[in-house]
Amino acid sequence: MSTTALLLSVLAVSIGVIIGHLIPRVPAIFMSRFSFFNAELPPHPSPVPVNGHLLARVLLMRNLRVLGLLLTLLPFTLGWLAVYGAHSPFGVGLILGSSWTILSWLLPEEWTPLKRWPCNLAVAEQLQLLRNDSTDEDKRCCADPEIMWEVSAVRCTSCLKLLLDLPRPDLGRKRSDGWMLGSLRVWLLDGNSPLGNVPVTSDEEE
Ligand SMILES: [Zn+2]
Repeated sequence: MSTTALLLSVLAVSIGVIIGHLIPRVPAIFMSRFSFFNAELPPHPSPVPVNGHLLARVLLMRNLRVLGLLLTLLPFTLGWLAVYGAHSPFGVGLILGSSWTILSWLLPEEWTPLKRWPCNLAVAEQLQLLRNDSTDEDKRCCADPEIMWEVSAVRCTSCLKLLLDLPRPDLGRKRSDGWMLGSLRVWLLDGNSPLGNVPVTSDEEE
């Protein structure tokens, strides 16, 4: 095999990996940012009020990831067909990219550096509990709670109490850093907050 052919094969594998990795993420990176999805949320990166719209958004982002998981079958199957039928290096890349996605989303969380499901049911439940507490005179943080999910945590803006030490993941709003750079950031962080991960636990209150 000549050097040029080898380089072309490496290039084909690399492009296949990128496409196989990107296709499952298309729903969360692009679909969630359509204007009609975002009418009820404040513009990025403003704090988001913890209300029904936010809960719906957390569940939507989770569902888009489920959709992405189903979409991994597309590059995986195409990759197999391309390798089986034409010994295509591009097909090898597709299989590698989609396999990596399946593994990183389904393996136990402690095995991977990033949170596999930054928007999940546990997060939605925690936010709902905070909503419930804010209407309960015995449990609320102050007389007039104003609960917001800021970049680094959920906080009451009336009394400034930290209510949940959980950095805000990508919520699919139109990004203030632009379509291109914003999408790239969401892709590289796989929807996680740039501030890293704090596990959701029920004893976060100070
Ligand atoms: Zn308060």
